[in-house]
Amino acid sequence: MSDALCPAGAVLTDTQATLEASRCLLCEDPPCVAACPAQVPVKHFIRALRFGTPRRAINLIRERNVFAGVCGLACPVDELCVGACSNTELSTPIAIGQLQHYAAVTELQADRQVEAPGGRGSCRAGGAGTELHADRKVAAAPKTGQKVAIIGGGPSGLAAAAELARLGHSPTVLEKNPRPGGICTYGVPSHRIPQDLVAGEIEYIKNLGVEIKTSSPFGRNDTLDDLFAAGYQAVYVAVGLQEAAVPQIPGLELDGVQTWKQLLDSFSAFNLGEGDRPQVAKSVIIVGGGSVAMDVASAAVQLGAADIDMVCLEAPREMPANRAELDEVWTAGARFHTRSMPLEITGEDGRVTGLKAARIRWKEPEKLIPSNAEIIPGTEYWLPGTMVIFAIGAKAAADLDKPLPDVKLDEADRIIVNPETGATSRAGVFAGGDAVADGGTTIVQSVAEGKRAGIAIDAYLREAVP
Ligand SMILES: Cc1cc2nc3c(=O)[nH]c(=O)nc-3n(C[C@H](O)[C@H](O)[C@H](O)COP(=O)(O)OP(=O)(O)OC[C@H]3O[C@@H](n4cnc5c(N)ncnc54)[C@H](O)[C@@H]3O)c2cc1C
Ligand code: SF4
Repeated sequence: MSDALCPAGAVLTDTQATLEASRCLLCEDPPCVAACPAQVPVKHFIRALRFGTPRRAINLIRERNVFAGVCGLACPVDELCVGACSNTELSTPIAIGQLQHYAAVTELQADRQVEAPGGRGSCRAGGAGTELHADRKVAAAPKTGQKVAIIGGGPSGLAAAAELARLGHSPTVLEKNPRPGGICTYGVPSHRIPQDLVAGEIEYIKNLGVEIKTSSPFGRNDTLDDLFAAGYQAVYVAVGLQEAAVPQIPGLELDGVQTWKQLLDSFSAFNLGEGDRPQVAKSVIIVGGGSVAMDVASAAVQLGAADIDMVCLEAPREMPANRAELDEVWTAGARFHTRSMPLEITGEDGRVTGLKAARIRWKEPEKLIPSNAEIIPGTEYWLPGTMVIFAIGAKAAADLDKPLPDVKLDEADRIIVNPETGATSRAGVFAGGDAVADGGTTIVQSVAEGKRAGIAIDAYLREAVP
């Protein structure tokens, strides 16, 4: 639906941004804001861009969403702000995500020039340079001395930490990976979300007063009790979903079977200079029809796969993947086998040789879940391939309950919270993002839940902790 003004990942020019901002109707009651999970004040930041004050624009955005640039690129905007834009009735919707990305990149570039030796070079925001250099600092509340532990340094944990730092508390993020950022760092391929943008936004969060301890896994030998004993007065749990789902079919033990998590984690680590180049086969079969499956396909192509077959339950119009990503994979030459269910991974001498699948129909229309799929007799087929990668979803770590005593989980091991506050069943423990039942699923939603929990933790600390 949205008309891209520039290629995916590219930044608008100053002229494009000004012209696009000038198309905004500045609605009285903007539907785009209501459609944004983080409630970014779209009208106000666009007006700031119109007046040539990008620093004001980005400060307005970051106050609601600390992952402004990442979300500008990665939000499913057609289902959120852009999908609600009133301008659609007149012409085309405003490219809100691209304007948000422009504001974030403009700020990061200006700050880097200030920080670089010799500083204060020309900034790409042209005439807005003076405004950008003048107003760098974000005011924080007076220090309260209260310590909060954040478990998990993904979008949700970092958003909660940023909010708590702004409110004067001392948040410490415990992140098991060598770098923070969660799936934005280890997962989404860097051609979609550039790593210097992620690093720039994390730098902004650190500058608010957030301490981030990387390579610090929680829960191997410690529990929540140890965190409270160590002096933390509240805890936010934002550990995401750490395991990939796989269907229970024969052949999973064969060499050449992988999950999206294995491939995308190792591809990210390789791109970050932390690991070897992952090996992919020449012919790869990818099971899944969502955005993660498309990311796997793009990664496989970049790693040298020549033949890609995509197998998914949905018909083309039912596939949950973003249209642009689908087109990219289609253009790369992948073959799509839709309304299909995998039955068995075939092998020889312990190695994958292909995948048996069959066509399906939905027992009940519009109910697009595996348990509603029915195999159509006589439609079985076989695809040759030496690697099968599953990209059919994620699930919580099976042993999540052990380090979280007294925190209630649902039957899928997701944390149960009060949706208004993120409070769990244990006093002083809050949770949000993908790890929570009915939480997460997008970066912006996870950020919004982190911010909301930060505010609730502040209220808890003021009321319950002397
Ligand atoms: C491949 C892929 C592509 C995606 N693309 C998009 C997209 O384009 N747009 C979009 O909006 N959403 C996208 N999503 C969804 C989005 O990434 C998630 O909804 C979001 O990252 C969830 O944030 P989170 O902070 O809850 O979890 P995560 O991002 O998973 O972060 C959790 C963090 O906790 C850390 N952690 C876990 N356990 C521990 C522990 N025991 N101790 C310490 N640290 C721990 C992890 O290392 C990780 O850093 C994508 C997801 C995937 C898998
Ligand atoms: S955060 Fe995402 S959904 Fe919200 S206004 Fe920005 S691009 Fe749109």
